[in-house]
Amino acid sequence: MDGKYVIALLNTTGQPPEAQLQDRAVRERLYRASVARGSRGNAYDNTAIVSQVLKLRAEKAKMLGYPTYAAYVLADETAKTPEAVNAMLTQLAPPAVANARREGAVLQAMIDKEQAAKSQPTFPLEAWDWAYYAEKVRAEKYDFDESQLKPYFEMKNVLENGVFYAAGQLYGLSFKQRTDLPVYNPDVLVYDVYNADGSQLAIFIADMYARPSKRGGAWMNSYVEQSALTGNLPIVANHLNITKPASGPTLLTWDEVTTAFHEFGHALHGMFSNVKYPYFSGTSVPRDFVEFPSQVNEMWADWPSVLANYAKHYQTGEAMPKALLDKVLASSKFNQASPPPSISARPC
Ligand SMILES: [Zn+2]
Repeated sequence: MDGKYVIALLNTTGQPPEAQLQDRAVRERLYRASVARGSRGNAYDNTAIVSQVLKLRAEKAKMLGYPTYAAYVLADETAKTPEAVNAMLTQLAPPAVANARREGAVLQAMIDKEQAAKSQPTFPLEAWDWAYYAEKVRAEKYDFDESQLKPYFEMKNVLENGVFYAAGQLYGLSFKQRTDLPVYNPDVLVYDVYNADGSQLAIFIADMYARPSKRGGAWMNSYVEQSALTGNLPIVANHLNITKPASGPTLLTWDEVTTAFHEFGHALHGMFSNVKYPYFSGTSVPRDFVEFPSQVNEMWADWPSVLANYAKHYQTGEAMPKALLDKVLASSKFNQASPPPSISARPC
């Protein structure tokens, strides 16, 4: 491979280099290689396996008395039936498609403008062009530098004066860091969590940094489940993948801030568990409900009174200019019809 570049396919359909590759033919090749995985008729073609899985699922559903596998799975979810799911999708699809068409037209205008400037014929927007031109539109329309924002989001400050503060205001919780307990990594933070009446609710572990042995993404784990049967209080952890700086403070991006709030919503779900049997403890709820507490908790990240309490410059203590955050929020709403590859691996 001397003198050649190799682009590795990542484990999602969206390939981040598509946003930067200037050669349209290479973008197309990368896109086609990505979507053809598992169906190229070679030794790794899993079409037959997928078809077998579908047949076995249908058989399993019939054995259990359901007309379809979807009906079997949904019976235990909050949606209950495929009809309810389809009704929801039918509601969502028209505005989602309209939004995608609207954003597509903006990208097409960018293509037309660029081609005209190069005195070259224009071409219709294709899937492999989307990320590339979306980045160009984003840069032109929402011109700001994310690094301007980061000094206002020092990690421990976000956690204690943002995430914990919101939980204090909403639920009366208070937090006290513990340094006497053994931890599996020196960077892991441990907190006692107290109810408003001073009784202990849980222990919370904040494992914020990426390290080679850690899987990607962000998630919540329950190491001890709450249970009235065992008398155990919950020990709940949030795991994120924030890059640890070589030196100096850890300054977060807005995306990392909202991820911290999101994961803490799952942590609250685990800590507020009040059941007898461990089987039902914490986040052991239907899959189509489990993201609800985390989505709600994300809302507090830019809630004015919460934001004012934590978004302060780590050196000067100065409050973050609102105009700066408004730019981030506006930019994050752009291109929602097609999530950029950078967020295709959503936190769970
Ligand atoms: Zn989640």
